[in-house]
Amino acid sequence: DVAGDRRAKAERMFELMDVFLKNDPINLEKDILYHVEYTVARSRFNFDDFEAYQALSHSVRDRLIERWHDTQQYFKKKDPKRLYFLSLEFLMGRSLSNSVINLGIRDQYAAALRQLGFEFEVLAEQEGDAALGNGGLARLSACQMDSLATLDYPAMGYGLRYQYGLFRQIILDGFQHEQPDYWLNFGNPWEIERVHVSYAVKVEAVAYDNPIPGYGTRNTINLRLWAAKPSGQYDMESYNTGDYINAVVNRQKAETISNVLYPDDRSYQGKELRLKQQYFFVSASLQDIIRRFKDVHDNFDDFPGKVALQLNDTHPSLAIVELMRVLVDEERLGWDRAWDIVCKTFCFTTHTVLPEALEKIPVDLLGSLLPRHLQIIYDINFNFVEELKKRIGLDYSRLSLMSIVEEGAVKNIRMANLSIVCCHTVNGVSRVHAELLKKRVFKRRWIVVSNPNLCALVSKWLGTEAWICNVDLLAGLQEFASNPDLQQEWKMVKTVNKMRLAEYIEAMSGVKVSLDAMFDVQIKRIHEYKRQLLNILGIIHRYDCIKNMEKSDKRKVVPRVCILGGKAAPGYEIAKKIIKLCHAVAEKVNNDADIGDLLKLVFIPDYNVSVAELVIPGSDLSQHISTAGHEASGTGSMKFLMNGCLLLATADGSTVEIIDEIGADNMFLFGAKMNEVSTLRDKGAALKVPLQFARVVRMVRDGYFGFKDYFKSLCDTVEDGRDFYLLGHDFSSYLETQAAADRAFVDQEKWTRMSILSTAGSGRFSSDRTIEEYAEKTWGIEPCKCPS
Ligand code: PLP
Repeated sequence: DVAGDRRAKAERMFELMDVFLKNDPINLEKDILYHVEYTVARSRFNFDDFEAYQALSHSVRDRLIERWHDTQQYFKKKDPKRLYFLSLEFLMGRSLSNSVINLGIRDQYAAALRQLGFEFEVLAEQEGDAALGNGGLARLSACQMDSLATLDYPAMGYGLRYQYGLFRQIILDGFQHEQPDYWLNFGNPWEIERVHVSYAVKVEAVAYDNPIPGYGTRNTINLRLWAAKPSGQYDMESYNTGDYINAVVNRQKAETISNVLYPDDRSYQGKELRLKQQYFFVSASLQDIIRRFKDVHDNFDDFPGKVALQLNDTHPSLAIVELMRVLVDEERLGWDRAWDIVCKTFCFTTHTVLPEALEKIPVDLLGSLLPRHLQIIYDINFNFVEELKKRIGLDYSRLSLMSIVEEGAVKNIRMANLSIVCCHTVNGVSRVHAELLKKRVFKRRWIVVSNPNLCALVSKWLGTEAWICNVDLLAGLQEFASNPDLQQEWKMVKTVNKMRLAEYIEAMSGVKVSLDAMFDVQIKRIHEYKRQLLNILGIIHRYDCIKNMEKSDKRKVVPRVCILGGKAAPGYEIAKKIIKLCHAVAEKVNNDADIGDLLKLVFIPDYNVSVAELVIPGSDLSQHISTAGHEASGTGSMKFLMNGCLLLATADGSTVEIIDEIGADNMFLFGAKMNEVSTLRDKGAALKVPLQFARVVRMVRDGYFGFKDYFKSLCDTVEDGRDFYLLGHDFSSYLETQAAADRAFVDQEKWTRMSILSTAGSGRFSSDRTIEEYAEKTWGIEPCKCPS
């Protein structure tokens, strides 16, 4: 009897599967050795750190898979409304430490490894970064995946599995060079190849699943990344005509679609490969989502009740058009019904405030690659403009501004307009943007993983670890901010973190730095608007002052270690010159015997997530000094804040909200306000610039740091009325604020109090909270907690 057979089989399976992985140190030890022997295929008597890391990560992967299976099964059984997070970029960094901490088995693994003669920390260093993204936007996607898992939401991420992540930055003679990041070279234990989950998108899209564990829960959600492979269908013609080699080579070209991440973090205008990547991505993801929906449902009117699609910036916004196409052309729904479904399904988050960074696709390009999609966009736009006319009349300048199609010498599709027209909710990422939801980035890894000492100290003083899941509780530190015992311990933790950073600096650059100095950090992508140049010119000023000081005055100087880091987009010449200037100034300053430990300047190469995890806990002061009105959010500042680092900042992006939270007294603010910027800019050459500014720029121009001709065009960007980012105007207030930071640093009691209050005020920036708000108000999803 069939039912009986099935039951017997299930019982036997259950017996066999009663081997749920055990997490005590002895079992973990056995498990690691098993993987050394059978996965890594090394002798268990002879394996090195890297092999131990591989075995360890496979052992962790098994545990992730176990939970991930259970979670997926549970979601399937419950069939809740699901959120699909679509992003072309995910900056995941390393997985090992984050996974074992989220699974709650870090200490057990550390104990098991000690028995085997290895240190967990050392092995964790063996892992390379998964850098499938450029900067803030991509890092935010990673944080949000973590929060979605932690809060038990039935969610899934979709992205691309680039063979080459963000380029590696190599510095030779102070110049940036780019090297490909072939991150998969040594295998990637954190992904699971799903050869049977594949879809045709001209080529074949094959799924690679990456389990994302929540913190303190069994729920482990999926990040599905697509890789392009040659299609299973053969072009028989070319094979039959005997051109076998060329036929194979052409098939191989299919893989180039998902090969490489675009390394510009702002603009992708008019690139054919980029458009192909976008379409490849949205088509595969939607096929997968629709397949899952149709497994259970047969009426598309239920679609918005079961599916929320979140667009991370405009990069995946072709998904809107693709869903329209599928509903109308393939599922044969009428236009209005399809449109209604699409509008109820999509939500969109925008990440930029700069008009020039808004994505546009030339109509010619779109028409040649995706003619049907262009037609659909025209139809959507026609309906939209007709609707708009009813509301605002024939105001052609407004109509043309809001239209999805931009007229002009080159006709473009404005992807942001398309997204706004089609999505039921549009979010900005900070208050500068709009009175909308905020971008919050707290993720456990930024304190629990990267700063375990501070984490332990906070738990001790709050008397609980509950703050890790409920970060509002960090506010409880406020009442102890002036407590001398906490202050003492707080300083100790900072010193230990500074030691770690100092060792790294010495290993990287050979520069020895003093732990008594203020560690002043600016690490982020290099951009004119982020004004690393202002920082460097300020350092030149500081150097110049110390140089010209009486010996007796030098004793009053607060020693500084200025740390910069960040990648310049490969084609961004001015940004590359800023990197070179930093090195040229460092060369001079660091080797000047008159200066000694009073000032050091170091550039940390190849800034990425794991470098951030090391640098952020070890910094005293961090700079977020973009010209007001230019940073959509800035996510780095929040991570510094929660690690007790003081901020020196302009009132731009998320700093505006940080001021509200911790108070202007606890930070160092300067610079033109957002509402002043355009008036100041209009003044052009008539704008007053302080003498000190002219002097430091002249030093660079005159070749004081060498490379006179090379730096000329860089100096040109800030002089003679061309100072678009207002470095000259903001210079005086920048220097005054730096002096205020020096004064505060001398008063260590005050400084430490400010540092504690910074951490205490960081709770509000939890991505958990953003996700809860989105879940309720935007996506309409509810937690779906897999039983333990
Ligand atoms: N790049 C990396 C590797 C990061 O970790 C972050 C933020 O954490 C950023 C870029 C974004 O930094 P910011 O917001 O300061 O530009």
